[in-house]
Amino acid sequence: MSWESNVRKVVPYTPGEQPRDKNIIKLNTNECPYPPAPGVEKVLKGLSYEDLRLYPDPEASKLVKSISDYYKVPEDQIFVGVGSDDVIALSFLTFFNSGKKILFPDVTYSFYNVWAELFDIPYERQPLDDDFRIRAEDYKKENGGIIFPNPNAPTGILESTSMIEEIVAANKDSVVIVDEAYIDFGGESVLPLIDKYENLLVVRTYSKSRAMAGIRIGYAFGSGKLIKYLSDAKFSYNSYTMNLPSIELGAASMADDEYFKTTCKKIMETRRRIKCELKALGFTFPDSQANFIFAKHENVSAQSLFCALKAKGIYVRHWNAPRIEDYLRITIGTDEEMDRFIEELRDILGK
Ligand code: PMP
Repeated sequence: MSWESNVRKVVPYTPGEQPRDKNIIKLNTNECPYPPAPGVEKVLKGLSYEDLRLYPDPEASKLVKSISDYYKVPEDQIFVGVGSDDVIALSFLTFFNSGKKILFPDVTYSFYNVWAELFDIPYERQPLDDDFRIRAEDYKKENGGIIFPNPNAPTGILESTSMIEEIVAANKDSVVIVDEAYIDFGGESVLPLIDKYENLLVVRTYSKSRAMAGIRIGYAFGSGKLIKYLSDAKFSYNSYTMNLPSIELGAASMADDEYFKTTCKKIMETRRRIKCELKALGFTFPDSQANFIFAKHENVSAQSLFCALKAKGIYVRHWNAPRIEDYLRITIGTDEEMDRFIEELRDILGK
């Protein structure tokens, strides 16, 4: 018996590559290609290094208040964390303790199974249908909790509020988490349902539509009870998850609505254009409502396209996983980046 037999062994999640070379066109991790709101820069420049001497506000009240003001949700129904990864991980720890299997789609964010393994939570993947849609019936069996993104990742497909409500209403004995990381790119949020269902947690992030992946802020909306349980778990683990710059810069971003809306609109417009270009080049894809397109070529393998693009300094994402090995997930970049991407694709495909 060695100490190693008592180690919690896990196979970690593999994030997309973060190359240091600024010339690389990064379409592989769904970041926003535009900078954060100008108000964020102003606050950043005004931050005093002396303030770093003190611990930050453990409640991150300024950040919570800014989210509360923006979404018109009471502060005691908002939880903040170090990216939505932190919020979701803590939610698994807090809510998925029945010993029953939790449910999520077979094709989805590949961190869900990693957290389940980390916390010893049994799980069962529910196959999406042939069009990569979630089937509500699959989530009407006994379970210890449910999680899925809407729009789903990496497919980009948005499910309707009525279908999600059907799942939440059928599962009053477990917590249902809707991961809305990509909801700001044209989707309808299920946020209003938190007033009706005590067991619904809606999770969001600053990493995509707010262009602040580097600051690591995620947040969640839910009933006062859900948020209190999450908060108790957080304060039993680490009181100071939100550092001082995150609190200040996160609040500044919420205050600049016009910039936020313009940025999302620009990305949606580029997405519309790139869908047409990809179609003309022989790609098919589900109708994405996210800031990426999940596309498959009619006769060239995703693996070879991935490598050919990489050789040209363009990074996209590819998984060698069942059902999705033929697809590339392409983040929507700036118009200039996407023009270069299409030009290089044309060259690779000989079109
Ligand atoms: N949920 C989904 C569906 C995602 O794609 C991501 C991004 N990898 C996250 C959550 C986590 O994002 P973050 O921790 O940056 O908020």
